[in-house]
Amino acid sequence: MSDVIEADPAGEGHASGIIPVFDPSTEERIGEVPDSDQKVVDAAVARARETFESGVWRKLPATRRAEVLFRAAQIIRDRTDEIAAIESRDNGLNLAAARHIITVSYDMLMYYAGWVGKIHGESSNVVSDGLLGRYENYHNFTQLEPVGVVGLIIPWNGPFFVAMLKVAPALAAGCSAVLKPAEETPFSALKLEEIFREAGLPDGVLNVITGYGETTGAALTAHPDVDKISFTGSTEVGRLIVKAAAGNLKRLTLELGGKSPLIMFDDANLKKAIPGAGMGLLAGSGQNCSCTSRIYVQRGIYDQVVAKLAAFAQKLPMGGSDEPGSLLGPLISEKQRQRVLGILNDGVAGGAEVVTGGKVMDRRGYFVEATIVTNTTPDMRLIREEIFGPVGCVIPFDEEDEVLAAANDTRYGLAGSIWTESLSRAHRVANELRAGQVWVNCAIAADPAMPISGHKESGWGGERGWKGIEGYFNTKAVYMSH
Ligand code: NAD
Repeated sequence: MSDVIEADPAGEGHASGIIPVFDPSTEERIGEVPDSDQKVVDAAVARARETFESGVWRKLPATRRAEVLFRAAQIIRDRTDEIAAIESRDNGLNLAAARHIITVSYDMLMYYAGWVGKIHGESSNVVSDGLLGRYENYHNFTQLEPVGVVGLIIPWNGPFFVAMLKVAPALAAGCSAVLKPAEETPFSALKLEEIFREAGLPDGVLNVITGYGETTGAALTAHPDVDKISFTGSTEVGRLIVKAAAGNLKRLTLELGGKSPLIMFDDANLKKAIPGAGMGLLAGSGQNCSCTSRIYVQRGIYDQVVAKLAAFAQKLPMGGSDEPGSLLGPLISEKQRQRVLGILNDGVAGGAEVVTGGKVMDRRGYFVEATIVTNTTPDMRLIREEIFGPVGCVIPFDEEDEVLAAANDTRYGLAGSIWTESLSRAHRVANELRAGQVWVNCAIAADPAMPISGHKESGWGGERGWKGIEGYFNTKAVYMSH
């Protein structure tokens, strides 16, 4: 058992205004950042507001704005290793996984840079009857205008990528932004600000401020001069954001939690389905909003799937930021590790069985073994709560209707994965799953052009694709009579 060192055990950050930052794979303190108070938040919002009103960014010709975004993308590509090293230490990820995050962030920025010159409204010359006669000779059009100053609040999983999911469309739309990264992983967001400055983004258009959620995050969310908040994080904090944003009725995009099902039918191609289900569950050690942690398996293949998934979980190498051969990293903090183990232990006390894993790893860092659990019941926290750890439950089923009812029996609706060789079944089940993205014979696939848009308590609005940028505009309809 490793020595347990709680990140910021004495709450030092809250008392001193300084937040200590740890590498979760070594428990080593790697730096510190300020917990920004109201004055710092006010100053960042004022800088963003000034640039928005002056038009130094939003009124630039579209091609000039696109150039800045493409230049930033090129810097990211050229410095992938340097940024990956920061992300890796911040998050505990091994370097290969961190490099992947930087590459997909580059892809995302390239995608939105391509939108900049292609944004336009619609036109109509519809004739309609009015009170004083016919409205004729009209030519009407809509225009899309950047929504204003946006507050972007992100979590600690994949921080550079999640920052990019917001910063790229916000800047492409012509908004000015204040970005607050999670207190656990502030450094790659600070790097992002530096990269955009170097790429030629005017000063004050993108402002990164660090701090805790209940101080800096709350001040940003309630700020009367912020027009929109785009938030990624837990559903619980999402609710607080909704309340705090009510003051000036900010526009909101909310990307929240999930408890996604994976359904494996008897006819699934197990050669693909086992690694698919394994990585759907274990990528990022389960610290992934779309983690498919409820694995429903049809009775005929249940026993072999449990055995094969356990074997898959056992052979994935675990390690931290400085262990190149590893695939699974640590949890973000001791607090998170205790939460994961608490949910697991509750389940075991209620009769759940651990097939493999279930323990803290005997090493430094906040590691928990990849864990497969059976014999759960639908009321267990293991089935109801987002675990955000490497813990998956395998549940048998007989009929399609039965598994659909179980899969949809959740307050979340972020994602779902279906494994079958039957095309008609794939269509039927995809149609019935109440989730914002459905994967057939794959899991955790993502494309910059395809939206992720949580149903139910998994969120409002969406990110990626057109859906991911339209929320940064207000629409104006202009009626022209001639
Ligand atoms: P969290 O909700 O605790 O924190 C997220 C961010 O909100 C952090 O920056 C935090 O400082 C800030 N925050 C906390 N309290 C706040 C408040 N009162 N006002 C304003 N800001 C506040 O989430 P986390 O633990 O950092 O991240 C894990 C969660 O993120 C999971 O629930 C996961 O599902 C979710 N997530 C969702 C998506 C998605 O696309 N749907 C993607 C990644 C992560």
